[in-house]
Amino acid sequence: MNMKKILCLLLALTLLVALVSCGKSQGGENHTHVWVEATCTAPKTCSICGETEGKALGHDMQPATGDQPAVCSRCGYVDVGSAENANVAASGTCGENLTWSLTDTGLLTVSGTGPMEDYRDILDMDNTNTKDPPWANGISVPVRAAVIEDGVTSVGVGAFSGCTELYSVSLPASVTEIRSSAFMGCSYLHDVSLSEGLTAIGDYAFYECSTLQVVTLPDSVTFIGFDPFCRCSALEGVAVKSGNRKYTSVDGVLFTADMSTLIAYPGGKDAAEYAIPQGVQVIGDGAFDSVANLQSVTIPEGVTTIGETAFLWSQIQSVTLPASVTTIADGAFSYCVNLQSVTLPEGVESLGDTAFCGSGIQSIVLPASVSSVGSSAFTSCSALEKIETADGNQHFTSVDGVLFSADMTALLAYPARRPGTDYTVPDGVTSIGEMAFFGSAGLENLTIPASVTSVGLAALEFCGSLGDIYFGGSETQWADMDVEITNSPNVHYGA
Ligand SMILES: [Zn+2]
Ligand SMILES: [Zn+2]
Repeated sequence: MNMKKILCLLLALTLLVALVSCGKSQGGENHTHVWVEATCTAPKTCSICGETEGKALGHDMQPATGDQPAVCSRCGYVDVGSAENANVAASGTCGENLTWSLTDTGLLTVSGTGPMEDYRDILDMDNTNTKDPPWANGISVPVRAAVIEDGVTSVGVGAFSGCTELYSVSLPASVTEIRSSAFMGCSYLHDVSLSEGLTAIGDYAFYECSTLQVVTLPDSVTFIGFDPFCRCSALEGVAVKSGNRKYTSVDGVLFTADMSTLIAYPGGKDAAEYAIPQGVQVIGDGAFDSVANLQSVTIPEGVTTIGETAFLWSQIQSVTLPASVTTIADGAFSYCVNLQSVTLPEGVESLGDTAFCGSGIQSIVLPASVSSVGSSAFTSCSALEKIETADGNQHFTSVDGVLFSADMTALLAYPARRPGTDYTVPDGVTSIGEMAFFGSAGLENLTIPASVTSVGLAALEFCGSLGDIYFGGSETQWADMDVEITNSPNVHYGA
């Protein structure tokens, strides 16, 4: 994914529902059902296995008055009526053999055969498709309910992205794929039942569906993309039907069936602590992304990889990494603002781009085993005073808390809260890395030797107190480096 640098430029961003456990365990599945209470549209549902009990409550509709439609007093659902005899507000095509029609009450019906067209995906920076879904563009009636009819085989990329009044979606068995960002930002989506027949759920498919409480994966799902339930802040469980052979749910947390990968921890679970089960080897991409209530995660010995953006924007305060961890991927602990300290065990080999960007860490020691540190790994850590390296590290060195390549030719990262107002880049350094000094609020005077011939992207940006730069080389040499600094400090030249 291309979240890397963008993450560093983005900034930040939370619910509860009564849980009732009943002591019943059943059907080979050895768990106690964890019930999420019935809502207007869903019966009491187990957040682990998706089993239901009783009926949905049904809406408590208050009659229409004047030009106001009938509304449910409990959930705010606006009655869209049925498509028959309704006035059509807009219609068109949305696939080679698909047509759509939207009533003036907000009921969208998609009919025909085959896949739906793909639309703009704002989370995919590489996506060149700039076409908005036809029902989301220039039409005064919001989509409140969508009925996808039998024969349609996919929900296209970004198809319902930003449909903030979409309450319910009905999907037929013919839909095999829900593509990337299909329901992104559907913050009012209460009711989506995934039917048997669905095989693939794309990247960020339900991103920020902040009302969803339980999603139940049918037996047929065999592919799950990058972090499909990211920022679903009310989600208490990703339930998996007991016949699914690819995935399993333990306490509402989604894993591969063999329990080797933890895929998604639901954003609305209210526990403050979580212990990842023994046997897990990989914490999946985005697994704990934006989880609001969790403060402490225990990672067992055996975990080797912390996936991309695994803890991004989470509220964790402490995490203990076992000696088995070798890879901390891009953005893994980005913007963990409450994470004040972390100990990297000997054995960690690589830290990805933006791995700890924007986190609350105050210091960090790179063990001897670290051979790769990505761009902006420690950028915007406003409490970070020093970056140190353990004895024996062949790739990196630290001088006065600043991180360099072992040969001292590259200055890689200057901690944003490093004590002192003045800093002199050591003579012999030839490059200053991307975002190396970014956000160093206390730095006032910076001396750069003539040996420096390249200054990376945004390396000196957001240094609010930086008034003077003393460059050892000539004005021409400085100009050649194309250094961009928004708050334009005085640059003094030495040659
Ligand atoms: Zn259950
Ligand atoms: Zn209701």
